[in-house]
Amino acid sequence: MRRQRRRKIIPLLQENWIRKEDLIYPLFVDENLEKCEPIKSMPGQFSYSVHEIAGKAEELALIGLKAVILFGIPKNKDNTGSSAYNEDGVIQKSIRLIKEKLPEMVIITDVCACEYTENGHCGITAGCHDSIDLDNDLSLPLMEKIALSHAKAGADIVAPSSMLDGVVMSIRKSLDLAGFQEVLILSYSSKFASALYGPFRDAAKSGFSFGDRTTYQMNPANAREALMESELDFKEGADILMVKPASFYLDILSSVKKIGIPVAAYQVSGEYSMIKAASMNGWINERAIVMESLISIKRAGADLILTYFAEEVLRWLDE
Ligand SMILES: [Zn+2]
Repeated sequence: MRRQRRRKIIPLLQENWIRKEDLIYPLFVDENLEKCEPIKSMPGQFSYSVHEIAGKAEELALIGLKAVILFGIPKNKDNTGSSAYNEDGVIQKSIRLIKEKLPEMVIITDVCACEYTENGHCGITAGCHDSIDLDNDLSLPLMEKIALSHAKAGADIVAPSSMLDGVVMSIRKSLDLAGFQEVLILSYSSKFASALYGPFRDAAKSGFSFGDRTTYQMNPANAREALMESELDFKEGADILMVKPASFYLDILSSVKKIGIPVAAYQVSGEYSMIKAASMNGWINERAIVMESLISIKRAGADLILTYFAEEVLRWLDE
């Protein structure tokens, strides 16, 4: 085997590569901001104001980024998450501003209500006190409205992240009925109830006032459930499946890959912040560990990687 590891042979036989086209950068847009603000728990990451977002996207396009996923923080929250589907909402405005400058940029949108509801839950809740929980079927029309408003504003891919049963099918139907057959669905089909989301909640200001998300996100102990959920989403019409988080769930990634449709992996905020913290302390070499983490995610089967390291990686790939 060492013949294959001769120095000049190594690049010839490399099995996986990170390409610029593989990377999707998550952008936070906050309607309450006038100027971008650093996200404390994610050193190097920022929340942007609506009028800065197209400029930031342009900066990223210049170094070769092909796709962004947008997360919005609205000015107004209410019980029904109505600002999530307002045609002048934070995401809808941001999509139009980016599209105007960069028609070629692929815009993916997060379809969920947790940043738009007062209680921080992902949809409509029912019940009271201890039994309060997300109502699956009451929340589906809300997700349809959100996805449709994003498509109307120009989104290329909508990404339902609430893990509601039937959400992919109901969004597919309503997009098709409204003439948006060309809009893709990226389903958060394997979204685990992970402690790695902590820094994101800081960024998205989406802590909840009661309950938790364990009835709609998956138990980290479960692999078969992830495969069942992914197969269901595929049958409901998902174009791309997702595994989230990435690094602790590479086994899930490799089994979901076998379904045979494209798979995205989300290297989440906690994965980012752990690497950042160690490198800021001089304990690890950031560049080496980031590239190793991304190549491991690709090797496990990801076609696309959502990562907060995208901007740095794009620059490294040019060197
Ligand atoms: Zn949510």
